[in-house]
Amino acid sequence: AVKRAGRRQVRRYQPQQDAATERFQVLARDLSLALSRRELSLHYQPVFCLREMRPVKAEALLRWRHPELGMVSPGEFIPVAERVGLIAPIGAWVLRAACREALRWDDVTVSVNVSAVQLLQAEFPQVVRSALKDTGLSAQRLELELTETAALYEDDRAARVLHELRLLGVGLSIDDFGSGYSNLSRLRALPITGVKLDRSCIEGLPDGPGGAFARALLEAVMGLTRYLPLDLTVEGIESAAQLATLQELDCPLGQGHGLSRPLTDTEFLALLRGGSGTLPLHGQPAH
Ligand code: C2E
Ligand code: MG
Ligand code: MG
Ligand code: MG
Repeated sequence: AVKRAGRRQVRRYQPQQDAATERFQVLARDLSLALSRRELSLHYQPVFCLREMRPVKAEALLRWRHPELGMVSPGEFIPVAERVGLIAPIGAWVLRAACREALRWDDVTVSVNVSAVQLLQAEFPQVVRSALKDTGLSAQRLELELTETAALYEDDRAARVLHELRLLGVGLSIDDFGSGYSNLSRLRALPITGVKLDRSCIEGLPDGPGGAFARALLEAVMGLTRYLPLDLTVEGIESAAQLATLQELDCPLGQGHGLSRPLTDTEFLALLRGGSGTLPLHGQPAH
């Protein structure tokens, strides 16, 4: 009976697996043309100083408009790019485009996501250096977001790349902090400048399931980042109640749909020029 159930299961899953393989192959094939066909673009999600409710950074988020499939999410196509060797050219394009756009913003930092695959390439610091040099953006206005992985904390090649990047003067943040592979005792030794707390950590805040735990966790992370010291950005702020709690705790930086969704380049410029009048939660300066 077990055997038959097993066989039935295989038969049932086969079409789905075929579809997934076919989708992967289509994405891999078309992604190699996406750059030259100008199908990639960047959106910018503002990061706010929660005291003043003012945008101080923006995270560049990659968008792909496929001619037949429509919008494909980076959560789906970045892993494809990593597996078929396209993350380096795509990542280099993202860096340049983000640096060039940031030249139009006064004093606002641009954050660029970097995949673990890029971080393990010895030539990556040179890619960053030439993006800065060619666009003329000062290194202090560029921050790189590194997703939390074992390689980030423990791979010697990654450590060398991190040190070289810090010497350039760019900021380095650990992304999705608290949801991946953490090595808290190594945190002190890494040449990083910030952490971005994953949105899963604040989901129940303040009164939902796990709300009291989320508050305790936040206070612990705030203590740690103040001590080291590191910039702290809380991701995934969706509700007015979450925002109020974070402001009450005096959490420095935040981002999320409740403050602003990712914007086009034009929309972000308008936000910078028009002040914070368009915030969905009508957040008020806390002090
Ligand atoms: P991430 O770096 O953690 O980026 C945050 C993601 O959360 C973005 O999804 C953003 O749109 C979404 N988000 C922001 N606020 C909220 C909120 O309040 N609630 C919820 N539920 N989501 C929110 P997106 O744009 O789909 O990007 C997904 C991931 O793809 C990013 O996660 C990042 O890891 C990766 N990614 C995006 N652009 C790039 C890139 O240029 N290079 C690399 N290597 N990865 C990228
Ligand atoms: Mg990120
Ligand atoms: Mg993140
Ligand atoms: Mg995240």
